[in-house]
Amino acid sequence: MAKKSKHTSWDLSPAPESTGHVDIKKKYDLFIDGKFVKPKSGKYFNTINPASEQVLSSVAHANEADVDRAVKAARKASGPWQKLSRKERAKYIYRIARLIQERAKEFAVIESLDGGKPIRESRDVDVPLAANHFFYTAGWADKLEYAFPNRKFAPYGVAGQIIPWNFPLLMAAWKIAPALATGNTVVLKPAETTPLTALKLAELIQDADLPPGVVNIITGEGDTGAAIVNHKDIDKIAFTGSTGVGKIIRKAIAGTKKKATLELGGKAANIICEDATIDQAVEGIVNGIYFNQGHVCCAGSRLFVQESVYDEVLEKLKFRIESLVVGDPLDKNTDIGAINSKEQLHTIEKYIKAGKAEGAIMYQNNCDLPSKGFWCRPTLFTNVSQSSKIVQEEIFGPVLAIQTFRTIAEVISKANNTPYGLSAGVWTDKGSKIFNLSSQMNAGVVWANTYNKFDPASPFGGYKESGIGREGGLHGLQAYLKF
Ligand code: NAP
Ligand code: MG
Repeated sequence: MAKKSKHTSWDLSPAPESTGHVDIKKKYDLFIDGKFVKPKSGKYFNTINPASEQVLSSVAHANEADVDRAVKAARKASGPWQKLSRKERAKYIYRIARLIQERAKEFAVIESLDGGKPIRESRDVDVPLAANHFFYTAGWADKLEYAFPNRKFAPYGVAGQIIPWNFPLLMAAWKIAPALATGNTVVLKPAETTPLTALKLAELIQDADLPPGVVNIITGEGDTGAAIVNHKDIDKIAFTGSTGVGKIIRKAIAGTKKKATLELGGKAANIICEDATIDQAVEGIVNGIYFNQGHVCCAGSRLFVQESVYDEVLEKLKFRIESLVVGDPLDKNTDIGAINSKEQLHTIEKYIKAGKAEGAIMYQNNCDLPSKGFWCRPTLFTNVSQSSKIVQEEIFGPVLAIQTFRTIAEVISKANNTPYGLSAGVWTDKGSKIFNLSSQMNAGVVWANTYNKFDPASPFGGYKESGIGREGGLHGLQAYLKF
């Protein structure tokens, strides 16, 4: 009898391009101390493909005892990892970057299967940017004394890292790369709907021969995250996720030795001034809100258009929305993939309903949607008021709320009037307006005549309820060091 394979083979021909096939194990254990080990909880949960609702794999659910085992492994590895020469640490990080590049296609396909994002985005944005984060921090790992001259510093020790489902591999890279470069060890938990690329990264870390226990990747649900946050022997928490959970974490660690970086929600304003190049601005608005189905913390979910160009912008925007292709994430022509989960689809639908109930006017691309899976047509609302739910709250879906303005003072006051302050966009032909607007906006990142541009050298993070601390660049390394 043929031996039963532990792997499910995904034959992806003919779509997309020549991806060949990727191997996804039917079952994944926890990655602790350099090995995959069975969870003490004995529990597993399924991760599905949100475009088909098919089960992709069964994944371990770590409980408190499992978290404790992972933290102990990270603690044991911490001393030797700190003593290793910085040059040696840099080599490991560089090796991880190279291996991500070598396996880029496999990572991209798994990311799109597990999370629903278009393969074009996984392939061109998520995976290369994840590799670049490791390259960037590898470059700093043996030069930290030049980055922070005349200052004494040391790593915190063990970092507990919790990430969301919208950029699973990229968020893992944002977290792991700076922690390693600064001499910390890691216990990381990916989101429950998208654990597979983090687990592939665990396999890659094994192949890179990283010393056991330096990186531990444990899967689970919210309770696993809470067990990491509450574990007594963790020195630093790095969390990316919703503002709601961020508040719970802040309370949980108050009065403890733990330091925290919290990267939370957003409700970005994208502002089109009357002197902007309108076609370029419309393209940027579409990218700003519909990229990754709007599952983006810095999504340009509010649009402000100066009154004199409003009709032109709206007409062009509607025309452009009609041309967006919604469907199979693995088709390289797809613009809008699947919504990440049934729960997230319900949340988005609730906001669309609320928008209509509040008197806003809805416009949607009227394409057919696949019969299985979770889908949402690209949507925009006009006639919205500043106090409405769809203007004030993060929807985290492909839903744009459009308002108008007459003066710069008016738009700044409206743009700043939400609990968030993560990012913003300005579209204008006048450099002076860019400086004027960006200096008055409460936003950690302001893009001008472009949107959603990321670079490992740039710090990223929010004002107000969008978070505490910065990731990326030297700021991101500093967040893992005590001075
Ligand atoms: P979430 O519900 O807050 O979950 C984020 C992570 O925290 C997941 O791994 C989640 O596990 C875990 N978690 C849930 N409850 C927890 C608890 N009580 N204690 C500790 N961990 C807990 O957020 P999400 O829905 O995954 O992600 C969307 C949010 O992330 C949006 O608000 C978005 O704006 C934000 N985000 C921010 C940035 C940024 O850089 N500022 C970047 C990306 C996303 P489960 O998955 O198992 O529930
Ligand atoms: Mg999934």
